[in-house]
Parts: sequence; C-alpha cells; structure tokens
Amino acid sequence: PFGRLYNFSAGPACLPLDVLQKSQAELLNWNGSGMSVMEMSHRSKAFTSIITNAEQKLRQLLDIPGNYKVMFLQGGATAQFSAVPLNLTSEGDTVDQLVTGSWSKKAAQEAEKYGLKVNVVCKGDNKSVPSRDSWKLSSHARYVHYCDNETIQGVEFKTAPDVGDALLVADMSSNFCSKKVDVSKFGLIYAGAQKNIGPAGVVVVIVREDLMGKARQICPVTMDYETMKDSLYNTPPCWSIYICSLMFDYLLEQGGLEAREQLNQHKADILYDTVDSSNGFYAAPVHKSVRSRMNVPFVIPSKPELEKEFVSEAAKLGMTELKGHRSVGGMRASIYNSMPMEGIESLAAFMKDFAAKHS
Ligand code: PMP
Repeated sequence: PFGRLYNFSAGPACLPLDVLQKSQAELLNWNGSGMSVMEMSHRSKAFTSIITNAEQKLRQLLDIPGNYKVMFLQGGATAQFSAVPLNLTSEGDTVDQLVTGSWSKKAAQEAEKYGLKVNVVCKGDNKSVPSRDSWKLSSHARYVHYCDNETIQGVEFKTAPDVGDALLVADMSSNFCSKKVDVSKFGLIYAGAQKNIGPAGVVVVIVREDLMGKARQICPVTMDYETMKDSLYNTPPCWSIYICSLMFDYLLEQGGLEAREQLNQHKADILYDTVDSSNGFYAAPVHKSVRSRMNVPFVIPSKPELEKEFVSEAAKLGMTELKGHRSVGGMRASIYNSMPMEGIESLAAFMKDFAAKHS
C-alpha cells in the first residue's frame, strides 16, 4: 500500500505501517496539545508524558530491574563507544573487548584513545565466534565489551557470553528488543534506535545505577551518565523518542518480546532454509550456531557475477537495499522487528525463482 517497498536496509530501517499512520494522525496536533511533537518544549507536560511512556513501556518490554536507569541520548551507538570508557574507567585501567565483527572492532579501537590497556579477548573470523575456551579474559578488567549482533557480518550471540563475574557491556544496536534479554546479567546495554525500535537520532542506554557518577573529569557533559540520567539535561531528540514510544506500544500490543522473538526466528528460518535448500546456488557464510536473526548475509558462490543482477531484479519487484555491506559484498537482507512476513515470503519466492532461472 501507498507505493511502499519491502525495505531490507540495515538501518535506518522500515517501521510498521501502524506506527507511521499513528504518527501521521497525530502529526499536526498531538493529543489535543495544539502542536506537533516536533514543536513542543521538551519540558512541557505533553512531552513529559511521552518520554515517561517511552521509558515505562521499554521497562515493561524488557522487564528492566529497578536498579537500572534508562536513558534516551544522542550521538548514536558510536558515541557510546567513547561514553562507556569515559564513564566506567580511569586512565591505565584494563578493559576486555570481544571482537566478532566490524562494530566490536570499532568499539575496541575507540577505547584505545582513552589511555586504557585494551585486551582483545578473542578475534573472530567474521563467520563465527571463537570457542569459549580460547578466550583470554583478564583477571582485573573494568568490563567486558561485546557486540550482541554484528550488523555487517550477521554474527549473533544466541545467549549472552559467559564472562564469569566480570561486568558485561553490550552493544545491542541491531537486535535490541528483537528478543527477551535478562538485563540483570549486564552492567550496561546500549542500542541505536534506527533498526528495531524507531528512527535515527536516539540511542537507548540501560545502565546499572552503581556504575553512574564515576565519569572521568574530561567526560563531555552530554555523555556523563549521572548528568544525563533523566535524558533531559539538554534538549533530547524529542521526535525520535516519540516514535520509539509508539513502537514500544506496538510491540506490547503484539504480545511483547517473547512473541516477537518467535516471529523473528521464524522469519530468519525461512530465509536461511531457502539458502540451505538451494543445492548450493546460495550460501550463507556464517556458522549456523551464530547466524543472525536480524541480518541475513548470503552469496552466490559459483556465480558471483550474478549478485548484481539479483539485487537489481529484486529491486524491480519492490524489494530494496539487498546489497551486502561494501566491505563484505554479496547480499544482505536486514529483517528487523518491522519487516513484515509478506516481505520475507516475497524475498524467499524471488530467491527460488532466481536460482531456478540461473541454475
Ligand atoms: N553498533 C552496531 C552493531 C551497529 O549496527 C551500528 C550502526 N550500524 C553502530 C554500532 C553505530 O551506530 P550509529 O550509527 O547509531 O552510531
């Protein structure tokens, strides 16, 4: 409807029609306030109710314990690559970093800037996660940082990594709210919104309270968790937070994160099954045990010259953004929370037709 495409972009990504239409209906005059959310003071009663609703609904979705703060900040997940070390470490400290793809590598590189000893616990081959017994955790690291879902490679942890008593920090940018997570296992979780829960412009940070109030003196004020704890120290990304709140309402109405996880698993299974049953026409490079439910990369191993044609033929049929990341090539279908089942079914059908035509 409305000439909309099936948008397989890795982010910003598609949003549910319900959410877009709700925001459209409320665009000019939000809830009788006489103005758009884009126009209202972030200190107004109206916006206070929006941000309060966003936080409450997110707490409900993820069952966030009371001793964790929830923040809606700016600067994207990338800013958190700096904010995490600036809040949780002092110069000279050691931090542990799991490197399982491009984003966790970037996070580790950023941490290098802050006078830390950055210990790379393990280094993946972009297709798998090194086995647990090969990891070299330090005995005295401030925290262990990892990326729960590598958006570019499509490598996803199926359960949180076992790091013993160490403080676990997770970048969940590309699978946040796609599944149930036991927040109490983490010291800190952060996630950019623009894949699973809303538009670009806001990053959600969930942090255990005892980790706050310890930022380094040079930490920018907009990154200091203690200062930013109510998300209202300075002007927040009001519109983005509003769309997130609609998205949280929507996810709750649709049965919460257990139902969502099942649906997301089912969607991913359809695409991986299509790859696996193609008699080798398609291949998925990632090891089965860590295949991402959010980003499905695949290639045409015996005829890579067809990959360009695949992407352009799919686009003609209304399926867009299927080209793999420029650093890895091939194809990638990003199928976050809001990708409807019809999009998955039409991609699977196209994959079968394309393979039949070219085998
Ligand atoms: N981490 C992951 C896993 C990502 O996928 C991304 C964005 N693609 C980032 C971090 C960076 O996020 P942002 O662009 O919001 O800074």
